[in-house]
Amino acid sequence: MEAAMASGTALVYDEEMTTHKLLWSDPVCDIEVPERLSSSYEQLKCYNLVERCVHVPAREGSEEEILLVHSSEHLEVAKSTQTMNEEELKRVSGNYDAFFFHPNTYHCARLAVGATLQLVDAVMTGKVCNGMALVRPPGHHSQKNAANGFCLFNNVAIAGEYAKRKYGLQRILIVDWDVHHGQGTQYIFEEDPSVLYFSWHRYEHQEFWPSLKESDYDAVGLGRGEGFNINLPWNKVGMGNSDYLAAFFHVLLPMAFEFDPELVLVSSGYDSGIGDPEGQMNATPEVFAHLTHFLMQLANGKLCVVLEGGYHLKSLSESVCMTVKTLLGDPVPQITGEMAPCLSAIESIQNVRAAHKPYWKWLAYEDTSVLQNLSTKSHPPKKANPNPFTDPESKITNNDESVKVERFLELHMKNILFPVPPIKTATTADSKGSAHLLPVPVHLVKEMDKTEIKALVSGFYADLVKEDKILHSLGNMLAVLDKILKKEVCNGIAESPRAAVSVAVALRHSVQFGFQRVLCIFVGDMQIIPNIEDGKILMIHICENEQSGKTSSKHCISLNWKEDAEGNDFFSALLGFILPVAYSYQPNLTVIAIGPNRSLGISGISLLFALLQGLAESRIFAVMEDTEMNLMRSVAKALVGASTPDFGVYVPPTQEKVTKIKILRDQFQQEWKMLQCSVKDGISRN
Ligand SMILES: [Zn+2]
Repeated sequence: MEAAMASGTALVYDEEMTTHKLLWSDPVCDIEVPERLSSSYEQLKCYNLVERCVHVPAREGSEEEILLVHSSEHLEVAKSTQTMNEEELKRVSGNYDAFFFHPNTYHCARLAVGATLQLVDAVMTGKVCNGMALVRPPGHHSQKNAANGFCLFNNVAIAGEYAKRKYGLQRILIVDWDVHHGQGTQYIFEEDPSVLYFSWHRYEHQEFWPSLKESDYDAVGLGRGEGFNINLPWNKVGMGNSDYLAAFFHVLLPMAFEFDPELVLVSSGYDSGIGDPEGQMNATPEVFAHLTHFLMQLANGKLCVVLEGGYHLKSLSESVCMTVKTLLGDPVPQITGEMAPCLSAIESIQNVRAAHKPYWKWLAYEDTSVLQNLSTKSHPPKKANPNPFTDPESKITNNDESVKVERFLELHMKNILFPVPPIKTATTADSKGSAHLLPVPVHLVKEMDKTEIKALVSGFYADLVKEDKILHSLGNMLAVLDKILKKEVCNGIAESPRAAVSVAVALRHSVQFGFQRVLCIFVGDMQIIPNIEDGKILMIHICENEQSGKTSSKHCISLNWKEDAEGNDFFSALLGFILPVAYSYQPNLTVIAIGPNRSLGISGISLLFALLQGLAESRIFAVMEDTEMNLMRSVAKALVGASTPDFGVYVPPTQEKVTKIKILRDQFQQEWKMLQCSVKDGISRN
């Protein structure tokens, strides 16, 4: 049974929320400016994204809704500030750690709560599939009884509680990718097993605000909530795209798939992006497209993204746009930067895995242990980060730096963005299976004529294409592939009576066309092994039995995997091995072929197609020898992106399978560095 899924992306925004502002001078609070909202919204307009979203109006959250997580004392204090003069406002603000009141703050904070709940309602009632709320003030630091860190009411926590009560949800995932720890959210849900809270945050061994012991990796939740609070502390600044992706592959995503949420809420702070004066991290805007794309595969696509921090206006607004573009289903830009997590990131990942091992089935057989001697501890960094807001000299260099990042991003976005083809998917008109299964207009292409094909394959594989049937299918296949190579469509499906032959020809043709890194995942028996063309092709072959006489090499990896009969246990192979290798390789085209005797079920194959779309600007070519109706339908759905396919029942990997992945990881982690999720003994003490 597949649940029906809504389509469309909501955008909730009300200019009124820009009226909350700082009335006096305060070097800590002066970065939380109204322009954070207006410049994000302007940038969305600039990319024509506003008009593509479903406009959902904000409303004021009710007192009852605020009281879902806050005390009446806190509500009363907030309410009382509406009529205060500046002196009184300043005095009340002084009672909290980093907060400022304006006479309109209470109204704005209620709008921020209401905007978030409007988004939850739009998603839960099926009016839209997903969406984003641009709100101020943010929420994740605010606590039951206190404003904190620019936050008055905890918008996302209220949304979680609201969704539980109103829609009877039993499993909600909150992903907090803001660079600060959402300690407010942690406190609210730490004893609640129905809310899985994940936060990564700049920590630097408790040096960085809010400098709490309970922000460390070993705060796993309390009582019944034990195991449902995941903290990933960053002990260094400068974390980048590969560190964030590694955290998703090796910590968050396996937890999330095992948890199987009914709704995903994102505490979406972009101070974890490049140029931010608070975070001082290096992640570029497109990483948020990738993170969003991954989260869209959970909860049948029900995803609500709610703005938290983000203080470099250009970095913030570009990152907001990347998020919304992805929610709308646009192809994901190629990730930039070296794909290798840094040592400190790997150490943090290892420790959070070790701390959570008792609570999660997917971790049960991983031999991970807590690392005591962290590299950042044995070589303490010199005080490189004096408070930039109180040091006038550093404020000047900060402005300089900020302009530099702005210029960098101007160019960077031009480099990574590309025109989206008006039609996403191509297939051939006479293909019996796929064409009529595709729910939206597809690009139907004519097959290539025989002389053309013969010219193409002459010199290689010529002996394989004597049969007319194969020649005909190659004609279809090449016609679809050409549309992808010429970037007229994002992806395509071709049927083939002999997938291995089609794949060999497709790979050779793509390389000759000029594609330098082609990733090929072949599922099932592969009768001929294609030439890997000096590293221009990376082949991952998934089959049930060890193929005799074949050894794995960096560019030709064999993964023996037979999907569990009880459900889908392919998550662990995909997240723990295939995705890290694929992201390390950074392909510019992905070919996925389903041959005979496939050892994966439909749900495993759907997962493969869904998750690999983050690569190669979402350029995927599907070659199908097995054209069973349900399989074709699932693949078509994943490619067209009209809905999230059904990934089946989650089954944790057996010990044997965990060992299999571990052996492959050990074998290839020096070459494909995104595989690294623990440090070798001794490294940290060197
Ligand atoms: Zn923040």
